[in-house]
Amino acid sequence: MLWRFISFLCFQAAGGALGWWRAGPWGCIIGICIAAWGWFAWDIWRAARVLGWLRDGDPRTAPILRGMWGEAADRVRRLVRQGQLQVQAGEDRVHDILSALQASPNGVVLLDEQGRIEWCNQMAESHFGFEIERDLMQSIGNLVRDPDFSAYYGKHDFSHPVVLQGRSSTPARPVRISVQLHPYGDGRKLLLSQDITALEQAEAMRRDFVANVSHEIRTPLTVLTGFVETLQTLPLTADEQQRYLGMMSQQSARMQSVVQDLLTLSRLEGSPLPGMNEWIPVQALLRRCEEEARGLSATLCVNQKKGHEIVFPAPAEMKAAGQLAGVNAELQSALSNLVNNAVRYTPAGGVIKVSWEILDGGGARFAVADTGAGIEPEHLPRLTERFYRVDRSRSRETGGTGLGLAIVKHAVQRHGAVLQISSVVGKGSTFAVVFPASRVRAGASHAAPAAAKATGPASESGAAHAPAAR
Ligand code: ADP
Repeated sequence: MLWRFISFLCFQAAGGALGWWRAGPWGCIIGICIAAWGWFAWDIWRAARVLGWLRDGDPRTAPILRGMWGEAADRVRRLVRQGQLQVQAGEDRVHDILSALQASPNGVVLLDEQGRIEWCNQMAESHFGFEIERDLMQSIGNLVRDPDFSAYYGKHDFSHPVVLQGRSSTPARPVRISVQLHPYGDGRKLLLSQDITALEQAEAMRRDFVANVSHEIRTPLTVLTGFVETLQTLPLTADEQQRYLGMMSQQSARMQSVVQDLLTLSRLEGSPLPGMNEWIPVQALLRRCEEEARGLSATLCVNQKKGHEIVFPAPAEMKAAGQLAGVNAELQSALSNLVNNAVRYTPAGGVIKVSWEILDGGGARFAVADTGAGIEPEHLPRLTERFYRVDRSRSRETGGTGLGLAIVKHAVQRHGAVLQISSVVGKGSTFAVVFPASRVRAGASHAAPAAAKATGPASESGAAHAPAAR
């Protein structure tokens, strides 16, 4: 302000002095008047520059002026800059929040007061089949046509979630989505969706598992209780007592096997992955399998004219079979289970061929081929489920618990191996475990192909095939 006043006085003084010099006192008065008008004209020009800049100019480049107009322009420029920075910070914040919502594993949809989609993340797009460019500002009620959702949306009671069929759901692969609306702000709503397919499956599996375990334990327990009551109440002969005690011992052995297998499974699930420090000779594993298989076959075929023909690699090949890295007990249990199953599910007189083969990439394949009844293709993917049995009576008769292949699956997976199952009904099955090269140390003469390479009928073309252990 002071500068403005000084400049005005300077103008007057200069005009007066010039007028005095040219025309004396009257010239001085006229000079002062002209100088005053000149100063106002100059001032208006400066104001016009500032106004022009405010109207159309770039807010970052204010006109450089001295005095009041210059200061006003500079202050406006600074305020505009400050405003711009605040808007930018706000936009960055909104962008960060939307990015966080985008990264959410759940679906997020922002709805306006009329229930129209203002924004949604990719997960919500996949849950509901939205396409954001197409569906932006469309009413959620029109886009999600599931009757359960319409009823939920119409009731305006959003205290609980509603479970809907996912957009990508098929009868073979059902997808279940839990959806809940959360009102906020002035009539707006936040819609959250979560894929609960795995949760529901896990819950169903848990229920099935408990039911199965209870059934497996209850059945022999009921039989045992019946025998105990009979022994207590009826006057039995010594022979009868012995017979009943024998049957009781069978039932308790069955319960013991179930509990044993359940413990093995839980140990497999709970223990750390097998390391690479322990190297087990494959020969020892195969020998043990052979002993068990021959023993089991002798027990099962005790009243048969002919036993099983059990073929293992020749002793020299066994010796050169190499080593496997892992946990001895787990590997032995997996391989023995497969060989024992082949014996149990192959009628007397059938052939069981066990082979060990080093593969081209350095991995190895253990295979058991039998000439049993074979398995229908629809059962193959479910064989490794707990308590899943194709042939219930045979399983029980031969002391099966329905947990053997579940144990095999866990044990081999823990060793990075894959369980492969192929079968032809009426001809036989082949159960193979393929170990990765990292866990296999080939023996001296691994180049020689294993003599007992799986040649069973299950490996013929047209065999039903389970892709891998489940
Ligand atoms: P189980 O104790 O009943 O044998 P497993 O988990 O070992 O349970 O096997 C699951 C089911 O797979 C068995 O009940 C049986 O029906 C079928 N199975 C397993 N191995 C064979 C095989 N070698 N041949 C035919 N069926 C088999």
